[in-house]
Amino acid sequence: MALLVVLGGGESGVGTAILGLKKGYKVFVSDKGKIKEKYKNVLEHFGIDWEEEKHSEDRILKADLVMKSPGIPDKVPLVKQLVEKGIPVISEIEFASKYTDAKIIGITGSNGKTTTTMLTNHILANGGLKVGMAGNIGDSYAKMVAENDFEYYVLEISSFQLDGIVDFKPHIAVITNISPDHLDRYEYSFENYIASKFRIAENQDENDYLIYDADDTVLVKWLNEHPVKSKLIPFSLNKVFEEGAFIEQNEIIIKTTTDTISMIKDSLALEGQHNVKNTMAAATIAKLVGIRKETIRACVSNFQGAPHRLEKVLKIHHVEYINDSKATNVNAAYYALDSMKSPTVWIVGGVDKGNEYMELMPLVREKVKAIICLGEDNEKIKHVFGNAVDLLVETFAMEEAVKVAYKIAERGDTVLLSPACASFDLFKNYEDRGDQFKNCVKNL
Ligand code: ADP
Repeated sequence: MALLVVLGGGESGVGTAILGLKKGYKVFVSDKGKIKEKYKNVLEHFGIDWEEEKHSEDRILKADLVMKSPGIPDKVPLVKQLVEKGIPVISEIEFASKYTDAKIIGITGSNGKTTTTMLTNHILANGGLKVGMAGNIGDSYAKMVAENDFEYYVLEISSFQLDGIVDFKPHIAVITNISPDHLDRYEYSFENYIASKFRIAENQDENDYLIYDADDTVLVKWLNEHPVKSKLIPFSLNKVFEEGAFIEQNEIIIKTTTDTISMIKDSLALEGQHNVKNTMAAATIAKLVGIRKETIRACVSNFQGAPHRLEKVLKIHHVEYINDSKATNVNAAYYALDSMKSPTVWIVGGVDKGNEYMELMPLVREKVKAIICLGEDNEKIKHVFGNAVDLLVETFAMEEAVKVAYKIAERGDTVLLSPACASFDLFKNYEDRGDQFKNCVKNL
């Protein structure tokens, strides 16, 4: 019996273990940290062997195949040893895709993955397709493949998942955009990170599609220099195409070789220019898989966005409070600020990932009346924006930040949490940060 070793006992690791077991592997799960109780229970339930707080190298190096969870970097000595021994080290999406005949839609990019994935799933499901949504989102893809029989999978795919593919090939791929992120995992090389994102198309052929943001200069330059075999379908806010998604007056047009669909821009449920792009990508996918126009139009206008992404929390004394905790990088905060329609009190800061704040300056000058720094790395924010706004306050807890915002904001203003930073200084994760914000607002 072949031995499958799963490194990492989280969502994707446990899902892979279940699928591996079902496909006849002997499975061993090893996690250097602690495995969550709920996952231990699942492993026990299936009788899968596991260990935590260590990696037993003698056992692991006997593997025929290793699935490495996305959180584990390639440079870890154990992973290097495995590779040197010639043992294949793959990711969950590579493993799970071997065991399904479903058509795969893979969505990657620096920002907008979750929103585009959820919207696509919403349209396809309402269009009557048997569709599973997985990847970085919700349940593990491998577990879904083990337990379901879907016609389509819509997968949110991180670059870490793409780093571990061999044959993985989505029928429809999307790259929403590319801006520097996670560079610590890519030897601080933006090129390496871009190359990793483009691996989503490396096994595609002429019958597959790559949908991409044609306004993204980084992406377009790379594509020109590194051609792919896939059929290219661009989307843009300011260009027009024979085949692609674009704007004509106040309408979004999706044009494929066989059909055209138009949607009123103002009818979208999600606000912000970035969400026009996410909608273009999702609607293009829907068109390619044959969803009816009426269904697409209805779904883009009734979609409930994902929490923590420009999520409207409450209006108090005519001040709107918006939770955009998922904005963990500068580019995401850019689009949040860009979509603000009234003077904004901006709560920003956390763990700086090498942020370049200058690109936000025009928006800050135009829209932001006060900045509330919240988190560890405030120095750069103070330095860059100190003179650009009337007021800049430092705070050290969410409750304090929200109370200060409440005091500053006047009738008609917006209070926006869009941190442009990671959350690990004061919070467990971005969800915790967003939840704390919402609770504090509700307690005002
Ligand atoms: P991801 O899953 O790639 O992190 P999300 O859909 O969760 O993307 O959105 C993350 C953050 O990025 C949110 O704060 C959101 O406002 C912003 N955002 C969403 N779509 C885009 C886009 N197309 N371009 C830039 N920023 C975006």
